[in-house]
Amino acid sequence: MTQIDKQAPVMVTGATGYVASWVVKRLLDEGLTVHAAVRDPESAEKLKYLNELAEKAPGKIKYFKSDLLEEGSYAKAMEECQLVFHTASPFTVSVNDPQKELVDPAKLGTRNVLEQANQTESVKRVIVTSSCAAIYGDNADLEKTKNGIFTEENWNESSSLDHQAYSYSKKVAEKEAWEIAEKQSRWDLVVVNPSLVIGPGINPKGTSESFAIIRQFGDGTMKAGTPRWGMGVIDVRDLADAHYKAGFTPEAKGRYIISAHNTDLVEMAKSLREHYGKAYPFPKGVLPKAMVWLVGPILNRSMKRKTISRNVNYPWRGDNSKSIRELGMNYRSLSESMVDFFQQLIDSGAFQK
Ligand code: NAP
Repeated sequence: MTQIDKQAPVMVTGATGYVASWVVKRLLDEGLTVHAAVRDPESAEKLKYLNELAEKAPGKIKYFKSDLLEEGSYAKAMEECQLVFHTASPFTVSVNDPQKELVDPAKLGTRNVLEQANQTESVKRVIVTSSCAAIYGDNADLEKTKNGIFTEENWNESSSLDHQAYSYSKKVAEKEAWEIAEKQSRWDLVVVNPSLVIGPGINPKGTSESFAIIRQFGDGTMKAGTPRWGMGVIDVRDLADAHYKAGFTPEAKGRYIISAHNTDLVEMAKSLREHYGKAYPFPKGVLPKAMVWLVGPILNRSMKRKTISRNVNYPWRGDNSKSIRELGMNYRSLSESMVDFFQQLIDSGAFQK
């Protein structure tokens, strides 16, 4: 049981990110003081959205310069904090050097933040934003699960530096977090494992891979059709709620799959077509797997044939019942999340010629 004093400041790493800014909003709305650890506290453009949130909310925000790869750079930001949200980690699939661009910041960054928690007497709980990617690598892994559904007991055993490197980075980072947490007893670790995050960003021009994925539904990339590629999705606003509840529910413990819907790209496209009709070049039909296997890697350099083989025409199923039972999660509909996100892309000019 970990009770957090709401008078104490709360630290958020990567505070300018897509997921983290909604977490910051939730904390500010609750009247808390947020220690926002960011790479560039001088960037007026990057901090603009967080400043706007703070102006309208009862809470306060203070910025600290920190980098995942700079030892000791979270010390000032963590001072006096009882609760630490560690969300910073690169989320991108187009990289040249996966070790340097994904695994090092994910793993060494987690070590850096958690070792700092070891040195900061006030810290009582750390929430790490991991991912369902630390639970599974490819949809085909579902066949190896006990009951045909991914649960918090599963670990990604199929990703590597050469195959699904982002997922591999999330697995090794979360393993690192548990190893460090288990060597001490002053603070407890609670891990949030979201599926693909969708929904409007606080910054409408976010750089998270989530924006690129949803943009493709409307920019013509998928106009010929989309493969039936199973995945879980979660709205970014619900995910912020999950972070808040993981932080402030004294009994919260272990990992939590945070995922609202077991769905696929075809269903996601359908939710947009039902709302917008023919106004955008939404995917028309379902692409045959053989065609995706042949053409996919030619059209998109980061799309590998092994990934297509092990994911297309496979369903994705994740068990979110622990989050509902223990955190009281309540998830919004797929259509609301898809439409709100897509509408934001339209409004921010993502489809203008
Ligand atoms: P994002 O908007 O790209 O946020 C990533 C954050 O990490 C940014 O604030 C970025 O800082 C920070 N960061 C990256 N490298 C850093 C470094 N070397 N030092 C300090 N900060 C660094 O992506 P996101 O979608 O919000 O992802 C946030 C977390 O959620 C990640 O841990 C991700 O793995 C996890 N997650 C995301 C999804 C999803 O679908 N979006 C799903 C599951 C889990 P700058 O602002 O300075 O670039």
